[in-house]
This record gives sequence, structure tokens and C-alpha cells, in this order.
Amino acid sequence: MKKKIYASDVIIIGAGPVGCVLANKISTELGLNCLIIEQRKHVAGNCYDEKNNKGVLYHKYGPHYLRFKSKRIFKFLSNFTEWIPGDYIVQSYVDKILYPFPINLDTLEKFFNIKFKSKNDAINFINSKKIKIKNPKNSEDLILSKLGSEIYEKFYKNYTIKQWGIHPRKLSSSITGRVPIRLNRDPYYVNEKLKFMPKHGFTKMFETMINNKNIKLCLNTNFFKIRNNVKFSKFMIYTGTPDKFFNFKYGKLNWRSLNFKFETYKKDFIQNSVQYNFPNDYNFTRKVEIKHVTKQKTSYTVISKEYPNSKGDPYYPIINDQNLNKFNKYKKLIDKVENQNIFFEGRLAQYKYFNTDEVIERALDLFNILKKKYK
Ligand SMILES: Cc1cc2nc3c(=O)[nH]c(=O)nc-3n(C[C@H](O)[C@H](O)[C@H](O)COP(=O)(O)OP(=O)(O)OC[C@H]3O[C@@H](n4cnc5c(N)ncnc54)[C@H](O)[C@@H]3O)c2cc1C
Repeated sequence: MKKKIYASDVIIIGAGPVGCVLANKISTELGLNCLIIEQRKHVAGNCYDEKNNKGVLYHKYGPHYLRFKSKRIFKFLSNFTEWIPGDYIVQSYVDKILYPFPINLDTLEKFFNIKFKSKNDAINFINSKKIKIKNPKNSEDLILSKLGSEIYEKFYKNYTIKQWGIHPRKLSSSITGRVPIRLNRDPYYVNEKLKFMPKHGFTKMFETMINNKNIKLCLNTNFFKIRNNVKFSKFMIYTGTPDKFFNFKYGKLNWRSLNFKFETYKKDFIQNSVQYNFPNDYNFTRKVEIKHVTKQKTSYTVISKEYPNSKGDPYYPIINDQNLNKFNKYKKLIDKVENQNIFFEGRLAQYKYFNTDEVIERALDLFNILKKKYK
């Protein structure tokens, strides 16, 4: 039987945000043909959302709360979607009470049963709780040095152990450091002022982005099964994991995975905000009712429970010295294959957790480099 050849000016592995953004820019601004090869049955990567059998829009791979560090990315995505406001409110369930999370002054007052008379009063109180640790390097030390042991034990410790399967002492401070700590009463999950959700969902936005006659999409196709039949005349973008690409030359990079359990209810709402965290109860970490942010008008609602797992799809890189050393070795190979016109980008390829706006910014930056090189 004749082998199928996957040929194009540009080959893109992965139809996630990075793959879609680059396909759009390369086809429209460089006038090159792109072929996107995607192993899943859909575009949008982990941002994928779809309607279930009751017509409720839900996020299949975990809740995606879109926010923008830079106006440039918001402007770029506005070419492909209208927006609705993104109000993401998360609470943490501790000793049968829901507290605002990230930790803010309301959380501290409720938890310690006190009332701050002024901001200074609050600062003095927090200072009295902090544990002195010079240069906190791990996730435990970071929280102890910022908020003290009571908050660490009740809000962070067990959540981190459940989420990562690793004690916070053995995790980089960047993990717990990702969540803000607030000296105000801001109840929203993210700090960014630009917070919007795509009005008709993420999938629709990315489908619109690649709806172009110069872009071909090949779904349900794993690159590694067809690698020898892939031909590009200009260059290739690879958004998958680096260890697999280089045949695990330096060993396997470790990832944390998640199992999602979805439950549909014939009710307007079950929760009073989009996300409840469960640091100390149950096997799941969080319960998400995405309808609070999609703002869909429907008489049904979907709850998703997240169960962390060490096997399964790669979701979060496990940032510790061992994995970073391994990735740094792969990084040298990644830099070398640029000579063969192969470029690695995205959260899998760079072995780094990026939010969607950050990864889109990186894709646009890479495009500017490619534009100079291949125009
Ligand atoms: C649980 C979770 C929650 C998140 N929440 C938020 C949030 O609230 N806000 C936010 O801004 N960001 C969030 N993110 C981050 C967001 O998902 C990423 O920033 C974004 O999806 C990265 O885009 P990407 O294109 O790099 O990778 P991905 O979205 O992972 O896309 C890569 C694509 O490549 C495909 N692929 C990989 N290998 C192959 C292969 N061998 N052959 C063919 N195809 C392949 C994959 O199937 C995938 O579709 C979250 C991530 C996770 C895991």
C-alpha cells in the first residue's frame, strides 16, 4: 500500500493555542501553507470546551480563566472572538467553612476571628504570624515566611500534597508562589485587570483563528506514528513533549496529571462561586462549576471534580532540580534542531507552566523571529 505523505510548506505539531496562533500568523502574513497535525479529535489543546448532552458548555481539561498581562494579546485575540467579563471567584473549604482564596484580609479576619482596624493593623498581625526564614527556596518555607504556620497547615500543605503527590518542602517556591497573597479585600482569583472569557467559548475562538484556506488540519493523528512521512519545505513547529521527540535520550520528564469527573444537575447553580478548593477533605482538589464564568443561560449545570494523578496526559511539569537538570539537557538539543528548521514552543515543549496569554505571547514572539528568517 502507498504511504500517505504529510507535506506542506510548514508543519505544525499540535492544534493547541500555540499551534493555532502560529498557523494563523504564518498563513496570513507569510502566505505559506500550514498543515497542523493533532493527536486529539479537536483543536484548542487544553483550552478545549464543548457542550455536553444537556447542552451545557464545560471545560474538558480543567477550568480556564483567561486573563491578560498585556493588551497586545487581548487585541490579537479580539480578532477571533467577542468577550464577556471574566469574574473568577475561588473559595477554600476549611473546617466546614468557605473562605475567600487567594488569602486576603477577609480570609484572615474570618479564620482568626479578628477585625483589622487599619491596613497597618493587618500588617502587624501578619508579621506576628510569619516565621523568619532567610531566602525561602521551597514551597513550604515560602508560605511559612509569608503567612505563618496556621494558614500554611490549613490552606496550603495538604492541597499541595494532594495536587503534586510531593511534600511542599520538596517543591520549588514558584509552585505556592504562583497564587497571590493580598493585603486588601479583592475577592477575585487573578490580579490582572484585563479578565475576559471568549463569548462563545475557547474552541470557537481557536476554530475561527485557523479558518483559512492555507491551513489544513489533520486530527486524530499522533506525530510519532507518521514521523517518517512528514515533509516540510520551510520549517516545522513542535508543541509536544521534548523527551519523546528525542527518543528519551536523557530519560523521561515527569508530569502531574489529572482525572476529571463531571456531574450534570438539573439546577441553575449548585455552588455560589465557580471554584471550591478542598485542601483537607476528599480525594479531589477542587470542584468547579464553570457556568459561573461562561454565564450560559441554561436550566442545567455541570460540576467537575479534579483528581490528581501521576499517570495520564501531561498537565503540569513537576518543577524540581532533577527534572530541571534533565530539561536543560534537552534544551541543548532543542536549540540544535533549529539548524534543521524545527522550532519548539508551548508549555509541553518548554516544560514550563504558562497561562494561555503567556503562551500566546511566546507564539507571537516566535513568529516575529520566523518572519525575519523565512520571509
Ligand atoms: C488543568 C489546567 C488548568 C489551566 N487553567 C488555566 C487558566 O485558568 N488560565 C490560563 O490562562 N491558562 C490555564 N491553563 C494553561 C493552558 O492550558 C495552557 O497555557 C495552554 O493550553 C498552552 O497551549 P499549548 O499550545 O502550549 O499547549 P496545549 O494546549 O497542551 O496544546 C498542545 C497540543 O499538542 C498536541 N500534541 C502533543 N503531542 C502531540 C503529538 N505527538 N502528535 C500530535 N499532537 C500532539 C496535544 O494533543 C495538544 O492538543 C491550564 C492548564 C491546565 C493543565
